[in-house]
Amino acid sequence: MIIKNLSIQGFRNYESFYCDFDPGVNLIVGENAQGKTNLLEAICYLSRGAAFRTRKEAELIRFGAEFAELSAVVESFGREQTLRTVMFAGRRPRQLWLSGVKKASREDLDGVLNTVLFCPEDLLVLKKGAAERRKLLDDALCQLRPRYAKALEEYRRLLAQKSAALRERVDRPEMLELLPEYNERMAQTGAIIITTRAKYLRQLAERAACHHLAFSGGREELCLCYQTVSTVTEPTAPALEVYEQLKEHQSSHCRAEIESMQCLSGPHKDDFEATLNGISMKAFGSQGQTRTAAISLKLAERDLFEADTGEQPVLLLDDVLSELDPGRRDFVLNGIRTGQVFVTCCEADAVTQLGKTFHIAQGKIV
Ligand code: ATP
Ligand code: MG
Repeated sequence: MIIKNLSIQGFRNYESFYCDFDPGVNLIVGENAQGKTNLLEAICYLSRGAAFRTRKEAELIRFGAEFAELSAVVESFGREQTLRTVMFAGRRPRQLWLSGVKKASREDLDGVLNTVLFCPEDLLVLKKGAAERRKLLDDALCQLRPRYAKALEEYRRLLAQKSAALRERVDRPEMLELLPEYNERMAQTGAIIITTRAKYLRQLAERAACHHLAFSGGREELCLCYQTVSTVTEPTAPALEVYEQLKEHQSSHCRAEIESMQCLSGPHKDDFEATLNGISMKAFGSQGQTRTAAISLKLAERDLFEADTGEQPVLLLDDVLSELDPGRRDFVLNGIRTGQVFVTCCEADAVTQLGKTFHIAQGKIV
C-alpha cells in the first residue's frame, strides 16, 4: 500500500498543506513542535478513523478553524482510491468518503489503508509490564483475526463477571453458584485466545529475529517465548487440548480463588519473554537494544500483515531514531528496503539514500 499524496486543511497546526510522497522512505525532519507527529496523526486518522494521541475530535481541528479536512490518494492492489474525511467544530458528525462516495461508518474503510504505527511509548514495550505486551499481541490479532477479537471480548466480559462474583462472595454467597458456568465459558474462549496468541507469536518471533539480527549487524539473536497458564504444555496444540488443560488449572485453583477473592486462572495474565543471546531483555537489555528489538517486533508485525492481506501496510515511525546509534539508525533509514515508510526525527544529520526528505516548520514544508 502506498500513500501517493496527502492534503490537509485546518488539522492541528496545519492550515493548508499538500505533499506528494515517495513510495519508499519519507523522512520528516524538523525542530520540536513543528508538526511532524501531527502529520503522522493525519495519516493515521485516514487509515483508522481515529487519532492516536486523543479521542477528542475537537482537539484535531486547528485552533479557531470551523472544520478540518484530510484527503489522500492511496494505491493498493494496483488501484487508486481517495480517502477523505471532514471533521467539524461543534456537534456536526464527521464525514468519511471513499473515492467520492460518502460512507456511513469507519468499518466501510477497513483495509483501504492499513498502517502499522510505532510511537515513542512503544519503544520500551519489552521493559514494561506484561499488560503492554499483551496489548501488542491483541492489537494486531484483533485486526487480523475477527474470531480472536470476538473471543477476547467475551473473555473480558466473563472475567469481569467472575471477578465481581468472587469479590462480592461475602455479602452475596449465592453469586458463587455462577462460577462453574463462568469457568466453562472462560476455558472455551481462553483456549481460542491462547492457541491464537501462541501461533501468532511463533511467526512474529521468527520474523522479528531476522530483523533484529540484521539491525545489530549479526550480533544479537532475539528470542520470544510465550508464557501462559502453567498447565498448558503445548499452547499451539488444538484448542480442545488446551481447553482440557485450562479446566484442570481452574479446578486446582478453585479454592485459592475463593480465598483470595480473585480470578487466578486464565490467559489474562499472559506474557512473553524476550531474550538476546539467551539473556533476559527485561532485566539486562540496554536502552538501545530494547528499542531496536521493539522496532524489530513492529517490522515483523508488518511482515505478518503483508502475509495475511497480500500487501505491505504503511509503516509510521514517530521519533524512533533519536536513541539509536548511527549503525542502527542507518538500518531504519536505509535497511528497510520494501514498502512505504514515514519516519519523523529532529536531527538534520539523519540522511536517507532511499526516498525523500521533507523539512517541516510551523505546519509547512520548507
Ligand atoms: P516533537 O519533535 O517535539 O515531537 P513535533 O514536530 O512532532 O514535535 P507536533 O506534535 O506534530 O510536533 O506538533 C505540535 C504543535 O502543534 C504544538 O505546538 C501544538 O501547539 C500544535 N497543535 C496541536 N494541536 C493543535 C490545534 N488543534 N491547533 C493548532 N495547533 C495545534
Ligand atoms: Mg513529535
